Amino acid sequence: MKVTFWGAAREVTGSKHLLEVGGKKILLDCGFFQGRRQEAEKKNRNLPFEGSDIDAVILSHAHMDHCGALPRLYKTGFRGPVYATPATCDVAGVMLEDSADIQIHDANFINRYKSEEEKIEPIYTQDEVKGVMNQFKSIEYGKYFNPAPGVEAVFIEAGHILGSAQVKLKIKEDNKEKLLGFTGDLGRKGLPILKDPEFFDELDYLISESTYGNRFHESLDEIEDRVQKVILEATAHNGKIIVPAFALGRTQGLIYILHKLTDEGKIPRIPIYIDSPMATELTDVFARHEDDFDEELVSFFGSKNDDPFAFRNLHFTKNPQESKSLNYRKGPMIIISTSGMCETGRIRHHLKHAVEDKRNAVMIVGFMAQHTLGRRIVEKNPKIKIFDHFYKLNSRVTVINAFSGHAGQHELLDHIKPIKNLEKVFLVHGEGEGQEVMRDKIITMRDNITVDLPEFGQSFEL
Ligand SMILES: [Zn+2]
Repeated sequence: MKVTFWGAAREVTGSKHLLEVGGKKILLDCGFFQGRRQEAEKKNRNLPFEGSDIDAVILSHAHMDHCGALPRLYKTGFRGPVYATPATCDVAGVMLEDSADIQIHDANFINRYKSEEEKIEPIYTQDEVKGVMNQFKSIEYGKYFNPAPGVEAVFIEAGHILGSAQVKLKIKEDNKEKLLGFTGDLGRKGLPILKDPEFFDELDYLISESTYGNRFHESLDEIEDRVQKVILEATAHNGKIIVPAFALGRTQGLIYILHKLTDEGKIPRIPIYIDSPMATELTDVFARHEDDFDEELVSFFGSKNDDPFAFRNLHFTKNPQESKSLNYRKGPMIIISTSGMCETGRIRHHLKHAVEDKRNAVMIVGFMAQHTLGRRIVEKNPKIKIFDHFYKLNSRVTVINAFSGHAGQHELLDHIKPIKNLEKVFLVHGEGEGQEVMRDKIITMRDNITVDLPEFGQSFEL
């Protein structure tokens, strides 16, 4: 068998790991590159292989950097199955449709001043999304499937986002049997809504993510207390609480916590608005997958036969007019909106109207990349630019880092430690020093193990 790393190789986006076994080609994830716009556009447009060469895809989860290139693969001739958990099938549908709109918009933007001959096509459109979604095969956690002759695969829980899975493959070749594991993105114990990640019992080879190889997270224990504190403070001043949040995962985690805090009487029953059509759509997907919820959620809401994602004071805005009307309503209230890093979308309008008033609060619950409006708020710059104007940042800003959906260094090591017979680890989905630290820690922790940090396009015969 041979494995080639065509993405998330010494970087954190573009996950694509090609497995060649018995003359068949299986792709583990088919993600988009993100980051520097032109470079990412080029890599996403020009896949390193033809879709028609790929026999099957196994998809770990529906984040764009893991599934975003699937319609492009379809466009270049892929017609095989895409294996994914039931929730991943549903979430991927929403994410890819949204992505097709963005691809069309971006192509139009680039084409503005180009002659007819120079004009580019979108990387993909809704046609390819429809095409590839028809190839999806829904596979429950724990059920074995055969992506190629001689290969058995099974999904186990990754605890990262709804539907996220790790993959274990049993590969028979030349009368030998080898076990290969792929973590996809590994989550953390105790994240709201999600079950905890499961462990691999036995493997020969592991492809592991290493996003936070050199980072440690805030404990999850205090999340609810911290959210409660922000809300009580702002409510005491009749302020608004503005929360930029990703439509997938973070928004539903917050809805769940706010529902619980309200029911427990820990926060007053103030209006909560979810102002993002995509977050609304994804919350519906969550509500349909109660099998994937953790015990804590089930014991709290299940006994009351209550829907965790619906309660009296929770409103999903129905149209842009309603969204705009929130700007003129008085607090206290909570507005959760996208985009997560405040670079696009409705959140910018809410921030514009709220940040100059010191009664209000901005609650940051996600990672903010450099050079984004979100990062400037985290850094508490006295003035921030929203659209073309500068606004004074007088509102309080609270940053809660504990929500991170990726395992930190201790959690990654704890994941690798108990795996029996493991002889080789490939660290992917990480960068720079973090990966080197992680490699050294694994080598110190275990005897007779090699750890590789594959480069883009690097192949290994196993
Ligand atoms: Zn992910």
